[in-house]
Amino acid sequence: MKILALFHTQAGGGLPKAALEVLTAAAALKEQTGGTLAVGIIGQGAAEAADNVAGCGAASFLTVSAAAVAQPRYATDTAAAAALIKESGADLVMAPGTARFARCLPGAAHRAGAQIDTHIVSVKAEGEKVRAQRWFYRQRILVSFSRTDRPWIILADAGVNAPWQGAAGTANSREAAVNFSDTDLRTSVIGTRSPAADAQTIKPDVPLLFVAGAGWTKKQKDGQFHIAEAGVLIQDFLLKATAPLGSSKSLVDLQSEGQETLSFMTHMNQVGQTGSTPRHAKGLSTCCHGEEPHAVGWRFINERRAVNLDPNCGWAQGKADVVYVGDAFEVMAKVNAMLS
Ligand SMILES: Cc1cc2nc3c(=O)[nH]c(=O)nc-3n(C[C@H](O)[C@H](O)[C@H](O)COP(=O)(O)OP(=O)(O)OC[C@H]3O[C@@H](n4cnc5c(N)ncnc54)[C@H](O)[C@@H]3O)c2cc1C
Repeated sequence: MKILALFHTQAGGGLPKAALEVLTAAAALKEQTGGTLAVGIIGQGAAEAADNVAGCGAASFLTVSAAAVAQPRYATDTAAAAALIKESGADLVMAPGTARFARCLPGAAHRAGAQIDTHIVSVKAEGEKVRAQRWFYRQRILVSFSRTDRPWIILADAGVNAPWQGAAGTANSREAAVNFSDTDLRTSVIGTRSPAADAQTIKPDVPLLFVAGAGWTKKQKDGQFHIAEAGVLIQDFLLKATAPLGSSKSLVDLQSEGQETLSFMTHMNQVGQTGSTPRHAKGLSTCCHGEEPHAVGWRFINERRAVNLDPNCGWAQGKADVVYVGDAFEVMAKVNAMLS
């Protein structure tokens, strides 16, 4: 089996962490299948990036480092990826599911006559067969499958393999010739716009996820609502801890039902069965009771803590490692003061 580990470089040079993770999986698959491994790298500094992973056991290193691929652009990335897939003669192409590749590899698959699968979390050889795994239905069903079509492109999710570590050296990479057409070059990337770091809802590399539940918007012990205060406490914490914000469904639904709620909360923040399933190292849930956020929403969070007024909150008790029975308003005010 010919395996191609296909990567792109990142701004500032080198390979992204997600690429090194895929390299670990590709090198393991090469051992399992007794096949051959080639590494293909697209982008500026591709040859230097190849040298950095020279010790990975690849028999060959192919690069496309023309100025045309210095910036991510669908047309040129697609042409470059298709050229590398064809030139390598790969049966199996393993690539990281980065935004750049998620955009261009389906097009490259079409041009190379390949099949492509995304969000793969595991690849293993079983005799002649390669079995991939991915989750369906909001991470509730894990499916193992294989394909007979070749080439087969596998886009792997980040965080499921350890990043490859090994010796750098001289990869003797070979630059592949790609004919970029005028049409490929007609789009110019003039810059990127992204929200400020504290405005992002999803920050997968941050260690702590903060989850807010509808309790923040309920009448409190003085019989009054304290929604504005809740907003200040939560945003203050997010800023100080640079934590991303998750929410229960009840809390995000309040807005669409016209009730006063936290203005910065949207459905993008929802965790759970019908929300996202984040994978941060730690999670802190506050004022949150629901089954879905606790049992499904953050089941991949390694260390889970909850703050709830209710000592009998079954889901917090059953699913969190530590439950603080207390008033989240008081607890978070204290935490924020400590973080200051
Ligand atoms: C098909 C289906 C899919 C669903 N999918 C999802 C999903 O994806 N995600 C999701 O979240 N929900 C989902 N739900 C809804 C879910 O069942 C719950 O209704 C919801 O999660 C409850 O939200 P909550 O815990 O924030 O609010 P509540 O149940 O109202 O809980 C509020 C909690 O806040 C506590 N509290 C109040 N004040 C304080 C305070 N001062 N300090 C500390 N604690 C306090 C209370 O003790 C209480 O435990 C789904 C439901 C269905 C039927």
